[in-house]
Amino acid sequence: METASIVWFRQDLRIQDNPALHAAIRRGRPIIPVYIWSPAEEGEWQPGGASKWWLHNALLSLENELKAKQSQLIIRAGSALEILTQLRQETNADAILWNRRYEPFAIERDRKIKESFKGKVTVESFNSSLLFEPWEIHNKEGKPFKVFTAFWKTILAKGDLRPAIASDVKTWPQPEQCPDSLPLAKLQLLPKIDWAKTIRSTWQPGRAGAEKRLEIFLNGIVSNYATTRDYPGIDGVSKLSPYIHWGELSAREIWHSVKDLRLNNKNPHCAKSVETYLKELAWREFAHHLLYHFPKTDCEPLDDRFRQFPWQAKSSYLKAWQKGETGIPIVDAGMRELWATGWMHNRVRMIVASFLVKDLLIPWNDGARWFWDTLVDADLANNTLGWQWTAGCGADAAPYFRIFNPLLQSKKFDPDGDYIRTWLPELSNLSNDEIHEPWQLDKQALQRAKIVLGKNYPAPIVDHAEARLKALAAFDAIKEDRGKEDKGKAARIETSVHRGNK
Ligand SMILES: Cc1cc2nc3c(=O)[nH]c(=O)nc-3n(C[C@H](O)[C@H](O)[C@H](O)COP(=O)(O)OP(=O)(O)OC[C@H]3O[C@@H](n4cnc5c(N)ncnc54)[C@H](O)[C@@H]3O)c2cc1C
Repeated sequence: METASIVWFRQDLRIQDNPALHAAIRRGRPIIPVYIWSPAEEGEWQPGGASKWWLHNALLSLENELKAKQSQLIIRAGSALEILTQLRQETNADAILWNRRYEPFAIERDRKIKESFKGKVTVESFNSSLLFEPWEIHNKEGKPFKVFTAFWKTILAKGDLRPAIASDVKTWPQPEQCPDSLPLAKLQLLPKIDWAKTIRSTWQPGRAGAEKRLEIFLNGIVSNYATTRDYPGIDGVSKLSPYIHWGELSAREIWHSVKDLRLNNKNPHCAKSVETYLKELAWREFAHHLLYHFPKTDCEPLDDRFRQFPWQAKSSYLKAWQKGETGIPIVDAGMRELWATGWMHNRVRMIVASFLVKDLLIPWNDGARWFWDTLVDADLANNTLGWQWTAGCGADAAPYFRIFNPLLQSKKFDPDGDYIRTWLPELSNLSNDEIHEPWQLDKQALQRAKIVLGKNYPAPIVDHAEARLKALAAFDAIKEDRGKEDKGKAARIETSVHRGNK
């Protein structure tokens, strides 16, 4: 039997700019593309409900794209090592190629797989997801960065990025006989109770959807991104995060197409927007850099003092936050957008996260877990950075004592209440001034707007001014305190939250 190359697809669900696939094409042997569903190997970060929905649809799209190249995606479920071993025997493969993942569990698993095949077949991994490998960027002492600005300057000093892989291959050699494959439905990635209706109407997973959204972004939104990115009520951001996470687009492809725009556009505002956007892609790099160098930060604070933080694990508060029933409209709008669409605007992610950890004093890990289950772009590195940053215990974090005021944020970034009205239609009769804090209204104003606080919209579960003082006092308690027992961890709320039991 002729030898073959196995290409193991993971979070690189595309044909274009795919270094592992490209290397297999260059080898010239028949190619066996495989996807292995092995959630147990992902430990406590198994894909959540929204991620599984996305994955199902992205795989469907990849299957069709491969078919168009006369190729067939082989789907299997179980231990990655066992399946690769079986496949290698079945296909007489002499090479196994994949693109790297950077989560701690994946690094460890891939290392074991490489070790196990050593001397038997060629095993090669590639960078398809990041602009730079996490180990390529370091400070003058050779240490990892903990401050973004220095990280960003180092990236810029590296000069031009290599271009995305240009490839217009129509097809590639196929095996004489395709190995068995499970039907995609067997993976049972779609929910049993269909909660995904609005998610379905919001997103088109797969390469075609990714290209469409990139085009919309490049043809308009990007030129004002520096301004519009902060306003959740308008379509002012790229919304490419799930496509980037699942690898339907590479960060490199986006980086170059956005950068080319700056070269071709002399408008200084556009140039600023392009730079701001590239910086956001660099925040993603920074997040991966941090998780790679500090692999325990998915669960533990980077700043040790926060191990002693006196969190107050009140499960009724956590539930109210998850359901978007805190009585603070901007927070509730964000949480309902998340539930309905599997995505939330970055400004609102910061507001709801700050409200959870600072106003409600609930451990950031509980918020991170809810996001993990409900986001279609749930990404261990970005989610960890976002939560630790907001809680004040991560790299380059906002100081803990700087506490977001959700009302000021709401008035500043959703001045006309458009975003709140979209997700909280029960408040839509309120004027632009009233909508941010309905509990301040008198009886007549509430009646006029057909709102009964506590009935069709909740009264606030906490008072922000009081909550702020409590949070500051809690921070005072740990400020100078290092190295004591891990009280913070013990305070975690023991609830098994997932999309199924909202
Ligand atoms: C508490 C919290 C949790 C978060 N969890 C996630 C997560 O699980 N997955 C995720 O992809 N992003 C996460 N983010 C970062 C950010 O909110 C999203 O990347 C962004 O909202 C996605 O929308 P977009 O594609 O329109 O972003 P754009 O503004 O268009 O930015 C372009 C891309 O840059 C990257 N990016 C932007 N901001 C950040 C950031 N702050 N950190 C890291 N990368 C960034 C993303 O890949 C994004 O798609 C989180 C932020 C916070 C505050």
